[in-house]
Parts: sequence; structure tokens; C-alpha cells
Amino acid sequence: MSRPAVARIHLDALTHNLGVMRARVGGARVMAVVKADGYGHGLERVAAALAGADAFGVASLEDAERLRAAGHTHRIVLLSGFVEPADLPRLRELDLDSVVHHPAQIEMLEAHPPGPGDERLRVWLKLDSGMHRLGFPARDAAHVHARLRALPGINGDIVLMTHFANSDVFDDEQTRRQLATFDQATQGLPGQRSLANSAAVLGWPMAQAQWVRPGGALYGISVVPGMPGTAFGLRPAMTLASRLIAINPVEAGEPVGYGATWHAPEDMRIGVVALGYGDGYPRAAKTGTPMLVDGIEVPVVGRVSMDLITLDLRNAPAAAIGSEVVAWGQGLPVERVAEHAGTIGYELVCSITRRVRFLET
Ligand SMILES: *Cc1c(COP(=O)(O)O)cnc(C)c1O
Repeated sequence: MSRPAVARIHLDALTHNLGVMRARVGGARVMAVVKADGYGHGLERVAAALAGADAFGVASLEDAERLRAAGHTHRIVLLSGFVEPADLPRLRELDLDSVVHHPAQIEMLEAHPPGPGDERLRVWLKLDSGMHRLGFPARDAAHVHARLRALPGINGDIVLMTHFANSDVFDDEQTRRQLATFDQATQGLPGQRSLANSAAVLGWPMAQAQWVRPGGALYGISVVPGMPGTAFGLRPAMTLASRLIAINPVEAGEPVGYGATWHAPEDMRIGVVALGYGDGYPRAAKTGTPMLVDGIEVPVVGRVSMDLITLDLRNAPAAAIGSEVVAWGQGLPVERVAEHAGTIGYELVCSITRRVRFLET
């Protein structure tokens, strides 16, 4: 028998979640962020389910190539921009939009003007409004904008964008400051604006502007503390599941698993599920992390190993070898698992390894 670990991708959930985003933003256009292989769900299948978006956002030229190869004619935005001159002809051939966030990119554009007949490159000018990761200092907006407009190979309709550091906190001084900084720096400049990631769409309606850029929410995942995606009407797009391959009686006081970190408090049954960090389940998930066995919530006990995880079956007396185990997804938000592993749901869905079979539902 092949390994029972599967990642079920719920295509209708992706489409539903795109609808939830649209309903929240009224007229704003939606760039579906599908970087990192569609947040680990599989780029092509995700893009097909999200074809109703107005644009796609990716982090690599390779992902953009895959989207074009799959036949998508949408605008595709390279969110971290091009990194070397050799990228420029590829951008033009594939008809991509690029973020420009650094003077080094402008120098590359100046040194490599387009050939005759080349399309003009569509640019998203990224301003740093206070996160201090990517972007030109916001106060330089007008200067950089003018410099870009003076270049021959650039489409004049430049989108002005910025990114929030803290939009998952719905009443936050930093986000208010970033909003004000961006507004002030871009006052009087022509062009559309784009500020909002998923959390900003959910909690900062004043940041909608003309383009929103949700990623996680499309996959049903929220980074808002204490509020999983389901709290916003979103549906999980991935269910990670496997099966029990053993059930063993363990006597009171006996240890379970590597490092003997956990001891049975009484005579009990331990279930062993065919899933582990070799599949992308986080080794950091502590004793007490929830899983569903035939729909009943039970805790992980002891350490997660590469291929196997041990479960306390006291709550699930009907569990048997072959019982289905859900690690996250439908019925168990990945955000809850992430909390027990000291991370966010995004990281978990991005980390599924190649030995897990992906199924579309
Ligand atoms: C990844 C990314 C997003 C999407 O963020 P989510 O929190 O997943 O919605 C939006 N904008 C930029 C620039 C990004 O890099």
C-alpha cells in the first residue's frame, strides 16, 4: 500500500474565498497572491480555481512562466521585482508587471533600454511606509516616480504600492502611521494605489484603494490572532490527512516516543498515524496539538518524528487501524495547529513535502 498521507485541495474553497474578498472590497481589483507554489497548494491548480482574479502575484520568474504556460493571460506581478539584467527580456517576453523597489533596479533599467518594438514594462513602484523591508523611502516617492516616467521602456501607468508590517492587529498605531505616510508621500501623484494584504482587507477597509493583494485569505487562512479564517467566512483550501497504522496499549507511567518526553498517565491506547515532519508536519508541534481521528479531536503526545506521530486515543474509543486522521483543514483550522507549533498557518501549508499525494476535491 502506498503511504496514506494526502493533501486534499478544495478548489471550490479557493473560489469561495476569492468571492469573500471581492465582497469585502467592493470595486477594488483583486490580485491573487499565488507565490510559493500557491502557498504550497500547487500553483497551476490554484491559479485555475482563482482565474476570476484580476491579476496574479508571484515571487519568481519561474512561477510567472508556469502561469503563462498554463494559458493565463492575466496581469502577473513579480512582487519582489527583477533581480538581474537578464530578467528584463524575460519580463517583456512573458508580458509581466514588475515591482520596482530599489535604485539598483532603476540603474538596470537605464542601462538596458528596450529594443525597437518592445512592449513597455508595467511597473509597481514600491514605497517603504514604515515596515523597512522592501521599498524606496516614502519621502522619495515623487522623485523616483519622475525618474521612472522618464525612462523610455516604462509604461506610464505606474501603480503606487506599499506593504504593512502589522495589519493583522486591527487597532494598531503602526498601521495608522504607515497609511498616513503613504498618503502623504503619494499626494498629487497620478496612478492607482495598492496597500492591502489579506489581513488589511479583513481589518483595514480604509486601505482598500484600487488594488488589494490577498494571499493567505484565499487559502482560508488568517493571521489575525485568535481568529481563524473560518471566523471571517473563509474555507480552508487544504486538508492534510492520513490514517492510523497502529494502535498500541501502553501502561500507566510508560514513556512514548523519542526522548521519552511524555508518559502515559494511565493504562491507555496510543494511536500511531502515518504522518511526520518528513511530510511537512511541524516537528515543533507540542504535546497537546489537536488532530481529528474519525472527526473526534485528540491530542498529539510525545515528539513528532519523521514518519509517525503518536496520539492519545482516550477520547476516541471507536478509533481503529485505518481510521482517518486529519492534521489540519476541514474541521480543524491550520491556525490552531500553528499556535501549538509556534508559527503561523502560512508556514505549515507551504511546507508540505513531495512524498505527500495531492488530491483535488
Ligand atoms: C505575500 C504578499 C502579499 C499577500 O500577503 P497575505 O498576508 O498572504 O495576504 C501581499 N503583498 C505582498 C507584497 C506580498 O509579498
